[in-house]
Amino acid sequence: MERARKGTDALRVTLLGTGRPKPQPGRTGPAAMVEAAGKYFVFDCGRCTLQRLEEAGVPMGELRFLFLTHLHSDHIVGIPDFWLTPWIFGRGDRPLHVWGPEGTRRMMSKLAEAFEFDIHLRRDVDEKLDPGGVEVVAEDVEQGFVYEEDGLRITVFDVDHAPIRPAFGYRIDYRGRSAVLSGDTRYSKNLIEFSRGVDLLVHEVAAAPPAELQRSERLAHVMGHHTSPEEAASVFSQVKPKVAAFTHVVSYGIERSEIVERTKAGYSGELVMGEDLMRFEIADEVKVVPPAP
Ligand SMILES: [Zn+2]
Repeated sequence: MERARKGTDALRVTLLGTGRPKPQPGRTGPAAMVEAAGKYFVFDCGRCTLQRLEEAGVPMGELRFLFLTHLHSDHIVGIPDFWLTPWIFGRGDRPLHVWGPEGTRRMMSKLAEAFEFDIHLRRDVDEKLDPGGVEVVAEDVEQGFVYEEDGLRITVFDVDHAPIRPAFGYRIDYRGRSAVLSGDTRYSKNLIEFSRGVDLLVHEVAAAPPAELQRSERLAHVMGHHTSPEEAASVFSQVKPKVAAFTHVVSYGIERSEIVERTKAGYSGELVMGEDLMRFEIADEVKVVPPAP
């Protein structure tokens, strides 16, 4: 597979995992990858993220940049694998950088404690791996933080996933191309503001049958943290991206085709239901590349 190279204008977004918290065939935990300026940036790290990165053909030693939207377990359970396995297979002496909401630094230092047996063994006793490659540089960030390098800008903004605070979306800009990843959020005016003029908007969605919502208070509560197809239609209609794509599809007893239909009832632009390993090539147009069969 041809990869983004330094010096090209390409901005490429790959959905690594598009699933809900409960495991399901064919859809893994939330994660996406952005390729730009010859580097790979991963956003969230749900179940099987490293597996999907391998399937996407990413050189494991290049996995050094991770941004987190929030600290719900389904978005972070893949971190130990993403952190430790590339240390064994090619990261060399380069650390892993992690940015996320308040609590990210603390979580990463606790992970270092949890895995100290393995780290000690591989670093000091058995394989004598480079100590630098297991180091973590973690930073708690907030809205206003911008990562900037080689013409690439990654902007953090608040979304509304209350009571889970903070929770972020990310905007990525590179040489006139742009993408927004919503993270987990209910309808968010702030997201609409930060998404102005964006080429690709990747947004979460959730739906459940009304009878189920009435029966289960807990389900109704959880669904209230997320965006319904009708609300997504309103977001997309205001943002007017070249392409809108759904990810983190939380559907209980509702077909994905129905989610798309309900959204299209209120939004006439291009909309795709995201799949694991679906890719978006953002140039003058946004090309949607379905996963290989
Ligand atoms: Zn969440």
